[in-house]
Amino acid sequence: MTKILVVEDEAKIARFVELELTHEGYEVDKVDNGRDAVDAALSQDYDLVLLDVLLPQLNGMEVLRRIRREKDVPVILLTARDAVMDKVAGLDAGADDYVTKPFAIEELLARIRVALKRRESMAAEPTAQAATEPAPAPSTRVLRAGDVALDVDRYEVTVSGEPVELTNREFEVLHALMENLNIVMTRDRLASLALGYDFVGETNIIDVYIRHLRSKIDDRFGIKLITTVRGVGYVIREG
Ligand code: CA
Repeated sequence: MTKILVVEDEAKIARFVELELTHEGYEVDKVDNGRDAVDAALSQDYDLVLLDVLLPQLNGMEVLRRIRREKDVPVILLTARDAVMDKVAGLDAGADDYVTKPFAIEELLARIRVALKRRESMAAEPTAQAATEPAPAPSTRVLRAGDVALDVDRYEVTVSGEPVELTNREFEVLHALMENLNIVMTRDRLASLALGYDFVGETNIIDVYIRHLRSKIDDRFGIKLITTVRGVGYVIREG
């Protein structure tokens, strides 16, 4: 059974989320402060952590940092709308995704499913590769730029065949750029394509994702994938 840790100090929200998740078939533990959150997340194996940012004792960002030092469990942050700094700091600290409050429960459930599915496909990858032919299944759609390949259906990115681990949002930003090779994408365009309407106008978030992609791809593999077009946005040039 898929286990989710809900960290939320507002009892009504916590109870509501617990009921909805339980109804969806998830097993749910709840804690209402930062210290208990760290204890629970590190002492038990959760499949996902839903983490409010404003918490008593330790704030959500610090909780996230402490979890990340030891575990790569998917973490979805619950942030106040317009709390841009929370989102940027959360990305830097390794959050997989965000949901802004107040949220529609359907949106939260969808984000949870995506985060779980991505984590599953990453976990399954080495075994699948070792056990079968390296050729991808014929049905998958793969975008390419130089040595970088992005498999749209499998949520996988490789550089010269080596897998790169990206968060959901990093993947979506790269996806938007690779689907529009040689087209300069404004930050707003990238935000709306990759992150959804919530993020339009919060264009510095795109800069954060680009920075992450560069450190995980350009820096690691010594290539120049993403070009900055000063005052406009970003582009991946190819061919
Ligand atoms: Ca709170």
